Amino acid sequence: MGRLKELLDSNRQWAQRMSREDPTFFSSLVAQQAPRYLWIGCSDSRVPSTQIVDLPPGEIFVHRNVANVVVHADLNCLAAIQYAVDVLKVEHIIVVGHYGCGGVQATLNGLRVGLADNWLRHVGDVMAKHDTLLDATVQERRLDVLCELNVIEQVVNVCQTTIVRDAWDRQQPVCVHGWIYALTDGCVRELGMEIDSFDRLAESYQSALQAIGQRAAGENVCLPPKADEIVLTPPATSCCGGRHD
Ligand SMILES: [Zn+2]
Repeated sequence: MGRLKELLDSNRQWAQRMSREDPTFFSSLVAQQAPRYLWIGCSDSRVPSTQIVDLPPGEIFVHRNVANVVVHADLNCLAAIQYAVDVLKVEHIIVVGHYGCGGVQATLNGLRVGLADNWLRHVGDVMAKHDTLLDATVQERRLDVLCELNVIEQVVNVCQTTIVRDAWDRQQPVCVHGWIYALTDGCVRELGMEIDSFDRLAESYQSALQAIGQRAAGENVCLPPKADEIVLTPPATSCCGGRHD
């Protein structure tokens, strides 16, 4: 076990390439951090934030943990949200789950993985809250459905933080989104949660939940693309618009 030579070599090559392509790249990043987005995602190595939406460093403020959970009293996540909203003034907070999430799967299957079981208990709470829907879902779709449910519940948790509510109270524009990423094709799907005021939370939650229920029941419900509301490169809704084809 020595130095991580391959990573350090790769870093040097990357830095040289970036400087070659844009001589001001690093100096402009040093001068200012002004991301428009806060990404709250899973720690899974297959879901790297900036790479998925093809943005360079400096564009997304990131918080990741196992199974993209937003816990009301998690100071780590709250600090990231507070800094992003109050200091960086991000305009969008995006909770990004992914299909095939190992943490969600462990919860669904009742697998013991160790200390992380205590963290994943929050996903267990989501599972218990929606047990009727999950029981009515065919076995092979249950993991997908719980991954989606976990995202919309974490979106609700973001919206209920004092940080986001205070921002809305002072008319600061912040929109909270729920996305899910498919490892199988690299595409992001919106889950119908685009919430820019507390008044919209209950209605958005109910309609997103209803759509999940309909898809779980096998109905071909594709969420409408809303690429005009949040423009990334490439547009996040540029693929099929639904994974139920
Ligand atoms: Zn995951």
